[in-house]
Amino acid sequence: MYIDSHAHLFKADYGNELHDVIQRAADAGVESIVVPATNISTSREAIELAERHSGVYVCVGIHPHEAAKAASNDLDTVADLLSHPKVVGIGEIGLDYYYDFAPQDVQVGLFKDQVKLAIETDYPIVIHTRDSIAETMGIVEEIIGQDATWRMGAFEDGQAVRYPRGVFHCFSGNESDAWRVINMGFYVSYPGIVTFKKSPVLTTLERIGYDHLLLETDSPYMSPVPYRGKRNEPAHIGIIAERIAEIVDASKEDVARATRFNSKRLFGIGEPDEPCIAYQLRNSLYLNITIRCNADCVFCDRKGAAIVKGYSLRIAEEPSLDQIIASIGNPLDYEEVVFCGYGEPTIRLDVMKDVARWVKSRGGRVRLNTDGHGNIINKRNIVPELVGLVDVVSISYNTSDPEQYGRLMRIDGKRFHQAMIEFTRECKRLLPRVVMTIVELPEVDIEKARKDIEETLGCEFKLRPYF
Ligand code: SF4
Ligand SMILES: [Zn+2]
Repeated sequence: MYIDSHAHLFKADYGNELHDVIQRAADAGVESIVVPATNISTSREAIELAERHSGVYVCVGIHPHEAAKAASNDLDTVADLLSHPKVVGIGEIGLDYYYDFAPQDVQVGLFKDQVKLAIETDYPIVIHTRDSIAETMGIVEEIIGQDATWRMGAFEDGQAVRYPRGVFHCFSGNESDAWRVINMGFYVSYPGIVTFKKSPVLTTLERIGYDHLLLETDSPYMSPVPYRGKRNEPAHIGIIAERIAEIVDASKEDVARATRFNSKRLFGIGEPDEPCIAYQLRNSLYLNITIRCNADCVFCDRKGAAIVKGYSLRIAEEPSLDQIIASIGNPLDYEEVVFCGYGEPTIRLDVMKDVARWVKSRGGRVRLNTDGHGNIINKRNIVPELVGLVDVVSISYNTSDPEQYGRLMRIDGKRFHQAMIEFTRECKRLLPRVVMTIVELPEVDIEKARKDIEETLGCEFKLRPYF
């Protein structure tokens, strides 16, 4: 199921066909459509449409193209319309210096006012920017930079959870722009341009992956190939999802699920997903057997929302052996079954071994993702017990520097770094395959880590992006 986070379903473009367009979208697996307005009149029109169709939601606001025509009380009207139950955000707002529909200072003024309104009312924003990315990011940074709580969002179970605060739609920035907006708590989205052959956005998309992405058609514009040049509609979203999946090296289902989750979270629509024990990514099945960990890494979302690619891993209770096995189904349906959640699997060593034994007895393959502290956690050398049960072990190396290791994982760096190395050596001696991973943090000396992993420890090296 998809969510089209950006489709201008207005009569001016679709006339009396809107009902059919929405029906075709539903037939194509689109469960919700967010319609961003462009001025007061389209805000009201979109609200009427949303009142008639349960899956349609609205963002109200003044588009930069309309900035010059905006009346002095328009902002008050936008604020009033926010109280409608189908209104889920403020948009489409921003800056457009490509077209010359409104003087730049007028656009800037209106944009700033609408961002401030979003902060006051706690609504997410949908941002349009064309030939103006630096100035748009500057304004957002300046305004939300003054209000960290807005950026950080609410607290859940006493923990600060960083809620997304908006989306830069039809994103045209480069990779560093993308990380900058993601860092500010924003998503990015790409319509049909990803299906065009020489689009400059493809490299950026490939680099940032799909964790911070929404799907959008930007209907009636930006039709994907093979509809390029024709009027676009939300039913085409699957073509865009498929192309994005190719670029980010994921399955179409992964992209659909993760972006759907992101849209739900951003706009507060639909039911929250149930936390899962087993979750599939590409052809692997991951098992989330615990949320406990002996470490507390600075880059880990375990105590936050605990989301992985649209799956919620915030389980309230640890699953039993039977529940885990039931969640697997047939291990031969997957390339591998991986112990990997927001917790350290070796904390539940006995359960883990029983599950692995069950998978192996059915001919499946098992991987263990671990922090490498299993021997300290279990107060004995556990590696011999993994022989015959684990085909691949993937250990978080993090850094070659024990002090930095301690800072990053918020543990006794010297003791645990040493223990991780000893664990790795044992795995290398007894298990078929050992991979060591590094999170791409700016402060970590990646080249030194790579050398130590490959040359000193003789293991495979894998770099994981930070977000
Ligand atoms: S070791 Fe893994 S699960 Fe534990 S805090 Fe670090 S990243 Fe999170
Ligand atoms: Zn738009």
